[in-house]
This record gives sequence, C-alpha cells and structure tokens, in this order.
Amino acid sequence: MLSLIEDKKTDPDSDPALVDQLKVVTFFTTTRCNARCETCFYWKNLNDADEKALTLEELETLTQTMPRFNHLLFSGGEPVMRKEILEIAKIFAKNCGIISIDMPTNGLLPKRVEEVASRILDEIPNVIFTVGLSLDGLEETHNRLRGVPGNWKRSMETMRVLGELRAARQAKFERGEGPKPNLRIMTLTCINNQNIAEIEEMAAHLKQHDEIDGMMFECLRGTPKDPNLFPPTPEQFDRVVKMSMELNAELYARRFPEWRALWLSYIRNVYRFQREHITTGKIPAKCQAGIALAVIEPDGRVRFCELLNEVGDLRKQGLDWKKVWLSPKAVDQRRWIRESRCSCTHCVNMGHSIDGTTSTRLRRKVDELVYSSGGA
Ligand code: SF4
Ligand code: SF4
Repeated sequence: MLSLIEDKKTDPDSDPALVDQLKVVTFFTTTRCNARCETCFYWKNLNDADEKALTLEELETLTQTMPRFNHLLFSGGEPVMRKEILEIAKIFAKNCGIISIDMPTNGLLPKRVEEVASRILDEIPNVIFTVGLSLDGLEETHNRLRGVPGNWKRSMETMRVLGELRAARQAKFERGEGPKPNLRIMTLTCINNQNIAEIEEMAAHLKQHDEIDGMMFECLRGTPKDPNLFPPTPEQFDRVVKMSMELNAELYARRFPEWRALWLSYIRNVYRFQREHITTGKIPAKCQAGIALAVIEPDGRVRFCELLNEVGDLRKQGLDWKKVWLSPKAVDQRRWIRESRCSCTHCVNMGHSIDGTTSTRLRRKVDELVYSSGGA
C-alpha cells in the first residue's frame, strides 16, 4: 500500500506540482479569420459559425484558478478580430502576472492592429508586446499563399503604422510624458517548397524597413490546406538559417542591442532543433507541451499543443484549471508525449523545450559570452 502511494506521488505525469510549471499559454482569441492561407494548419477549424467564445466573466473566473506564468501568446484566427482582445490581455496580466504578450497578425487590418497595440502600450505598459507580422514571400507569392489579393500592401501598411506608433510613443517617453513603449515588431515566415527560392530576396527587401526588429523563419508544420506544400529540405533550411542568423544579428542591434546575444542564442537553438527534426524526425529534447506549455481554444477547450487532441474542456470542469490540467486524459497524453518522444518543428514549443535542457543553458551562456565580447 505504502509503495503504491509513493509511486503515485512520483508519477511525473500526474504530479500536482506540474500545475506551477506552466510558462507559456497560447490563447486563441477567435476562430474568425479574413485570410485563406494555403499553409494554415488550423484551416478546418476557422470561421466556426457556432463559436461560443469564453466571455470576459468566464475568463476572469478561469484565470483566478491558473498559476502565474510568463508568456501569453495570442492566436486564432486573426487575433485582432476578437472585439475584447484588450480586455482579455488585461485579465491575464492582472491574474497571471504575465511579462510578455506575442500576437501574430496577417496584417489585413492595419487600423485595428494599431488600435490594439496602442491600447496595450497605454494600459499594460509593463509587458513586452511583440507583434509578429506574417510574410510568406515576395508580393505575388505572399498574396497567393495567403489567398488574399493585396495582402502584401496591407501588411506593409500595418508595419508602417506600428512603426509610427512606436516612434510617437518613444518621443513622448523621452519628453517624460509617458511610459517606454515596449513594442517589438517582428516578421514571421513559414518556409516551404513554394517560397524557398525567394526567401533571401524577401529578407533583403524587408531589411530596408527600419520598423523591423527581427525576422523569424519557421518550417511548414501540421497538415496544411494545400497538400502540395512541403517543408524545406535540410540543405534549403541550412541556407535560410545562415541568412537568418546574419540578418537578425544586424536587425536586433538596431534597437535592442542589450538583447541581441540572447535573441541570437535563442533562434540559433530553435533552428538547431528544427534541423534535427527535419533530418532525423526527432528533436534533441523532451517537448514541454503539457508541462510548461498550454493552448486554450476560444470556447475553453484545452490542448497541450495545436497539433494534438484536446485534453479537456474548461467549461465542463467549472472553469477550474487544475481539474483539466491534471485530468486522466491530460495525464495520459503527457505520458504519451514523454514515452513516444513526440517531435515536430513547432518553433514556439521547441523554444521552450530548448529552455529545459542543460546543454542549451550551457550553450546559451557561451553564446552570450561570445556575442557580448563582440564576436559572432
Ligand atoms: S494561417 Fe493564420 S492568417 Fe492564415 S488562414 Fe490560418 S489563421 Fe488565418
Ligand atoms: S512535439 Fe510537437 S506535436 Fe508533439 S507535443 Fe510537442 S508541439 Fe505537440
């Protein structure tokens, strides 16, 4: 009997202490989207006519049962199409103590993105707010892959208004009239067989835009809408990585020199993990989905990552986080991820899986030392 109790206590997949290990929550603000991307792995769930998104009252109740965690990632659909996105951000900031919010956008609604960014800078000035503008190739390829004529031009407009917003807030800050604008503007590119030939040209073009702080490249993941899309080959990927490392070293130094070493170390390791996956089918660490990472769908269903089945429904569990996080379904899936050494190229999850490895912590330290001493 005693040994049974001890076994239960040490079960790594159902240990109650797991609740406090949460670091990153991806919150789908809505399934609505005004783009039609061929690369989308979420396409079957988009524009759900019956979407019954968690209300602000429900979110208030839910977040009071959640542990404190660091990073909130908005997702969707197009995140800004949720009317209450600012209120959602404020609830997570108040109840979960987040230090950063990342928000991808397809760039189709420049005014709305500007409004959301402006209000987050004003009303939650202590979080670092990163807008990731999706750009999947030069103008023609981008518009085709995103399924929206004119998408590129609207994305450029989104980048412009965000740059102006930040410059205006920076001027106010320097006059002592407002908080420092914690806004970062990134581009996100999904690399695949249909855009790989022009990635370098696209990057060289975007580099001219002073607004951009960094550019992230991710291999195609999941099951895209277009079955003729494939991830890059290892050789193609190596080319992109080399270009990306040089480019990001330059870009980050423009505005955040103090963060440059850490950023480069982080993306180098993400690329290393992605490379390992596309060549061997395995990442060199245990994925942290279901431990440090969680995904909440608009209606309150919870997944460990976007690519796996749900592990629970918060509404059915009285909006009590622990009941879902430690449910039998969650315990089973956590065990399955661990035992099968589940692997993919999902860079957000890999980023935090990387954080968990000793070799990465050491490697990061070395990188920091090299970069801070001026070498590269
Ligand atoms: S990838 Fe994003 S922007 Fe494109 S269709 Fe899917 S949810 Fe919409
Ligand atoms: S390796 Fe990928 S598919 Fe598997 S749990 Fe992690 S993020 Fe999900």
